[in-house]
Amino acid sequence: MDYNHHVTGELIKRNVAQLLAEIPDGVDVVAAAKARTPAEVLEAVQAGIGIIGENYAKEAKEAYKLVGKRAKWHFIGTLRKHDVRKAALEIFDMIESVDSLEIASEIDKKCAQIEKIMPVLIEVNSGREPQKSGVLPDHAEQLAKDVSGFKNIKVMGLMTMGPSFDNPQDFRPYFTETRRIFERIKGLKLPNVEMKYLSMGMTKSYQVALQEGANIIRIGTRIFGEKDQKW
Ligand SMILES: *Cc1c(COP(=O)(O)O)cnc(C)c1O
Repeated sequence: MDYNHHVTGELIKRNVAQLLAEIPDGVDVVAAAKARTPAEVLEAVQAGIGIIGENYAKEAKEAYKLVGKRAKWHFIGTLRKHDVRKAALEIFDMIESVDSLEIASEIDKKCAQIEKIMPVLIEVNSGREPQKSGVLPDHAEQLAKDVSGFKNIKVMGLMTMGPSFDNPQDFRPYFTETRRIFERIKGLKLPNVEMKYLSMGMTKSYQVALQEGANIIRIGTRIFGEKDQKW
């Protein structure tokens, strides 16, 4: 272990301790690990993080080799059909970014082959941004209904990113709307759908997200530091 790595480890440990002390009971913190090394991911887990969020299957595989079952693994990245591979599905405990029937159907098919029932969240494009992934707010309910028929997928809630802002308060309307959609789908009591998780909020926005009812927050920078900051 070199000196640089050791210092980074101390930073992660301190950040995780401070963050977890601040988060109310019943809220899960997902450490968003994109572009972090497997060693950094392990530091976060050793500091008390229970769930790792991965945007890329390849990075997940590398980190999983080191960390394994010491953490749960959530996929939080943009999903294309060819990304849905059995090897990746074996690793993940939840896929937070399901945004089309095509993707859901592919996950269902591959999970049937490995005899797994995959908990998923439906990702909502709450900012209605053309370049962002996620189903449009008005289509979320229909997707939940369509996916409720699959045997190897279980819908367990919603995820959203929202547009990016400097002022945390600006995120609020997007989180409020996502929460409303969450409650509405919950009220439908669809078979095989258990609306339990609302994943919203990142480093800049998690406090507002918690006020708006998030019970999963996905935190990268606040845990691992700025991308180019190694010290
Ligand atoms: C990167 C990322 C996060 C965390 O972002 P930070 O601002 O670094 O906390 C959360 N969710 C998703 C989907 C991400 O890609």
